[in-house]
Amino acid sequence: MSSQYGASSGLAEKRLIVLSGPSGVGKSTVVANLRREHPEVWLSVSVTTRKPRPGEEDGLQYHFVTEEEFDRLVEQDELLEWARFAGNRYGTPRAPVQARLTAGLPVLLEIDLQGARQIRESMPEALHVFLTPPSWEELVHRLTDRGTESEEVIRRRLDTAKVELAAEKEFDATLVNTSVREVCSELLALITAPKV
Ligand code: 5GP
Repeated sequence: MSSQYGASSGLAEKRLIVLSGPSGVGKSTVVANLRREHPEVWLSVSVTTRKPRPGEEDGLQYHFVTEEEFDRLVEQDELLEWARFAGNRYGTPRAPVQARLTAGLPVLLEIDLQGARQIRESMPEALHVFLTPPSWEELVHRLTDRGTESEEVIRRRLDTAKVELAAEKEFDATLVNTSVREVCSELLALITAPKV
């Protein structure tokens, strides 16, 4: 199934792909779907000081760490980028990403706008993809219906989402999340597109 996207295809040409977009837009769902069908697309597992949501497992969705551990990672320059988001910190471990890139293998980062901006500075060759909701109302529904965050956290995430949506033009491509299936195939097409 995966041979068509192996190292000799366009997948190897755009090696670092950054997927960003407002909280609740469905980035994780899109990535999970894409990886189910295309396990050769490797996703960096971030570290976070956020507490796990029900069903989340350490080492799968995130490496859940203490504030002290996060401080240590920052001090020792072990993160490629990091940001504060809605009261918690999130960061991309440097070593596994660099090992993949050095081996010529593609890497997908699913990070917030602040992280995407840091990557644009430090790794200008990355392809930046923005995932946007079909409408503002849809984003509010998705964040609220998830039922995993308090009202205060939802309010903070929606405030941040307004800022994030305004940054769409900074990205190389925008995908509208009307259907997970369609977005997955559009994202895969971007990942595999030959470098121009
Ligand atoms: P959540 O708490 O909903 O899992 O994630 C909150 C936000 O943090 C999302 O926009 C997500 O993309 C972003 N995020 C996840 N991991 C990282 C990371 O390693 N770095 C940065 N900058 N943002 C991240």
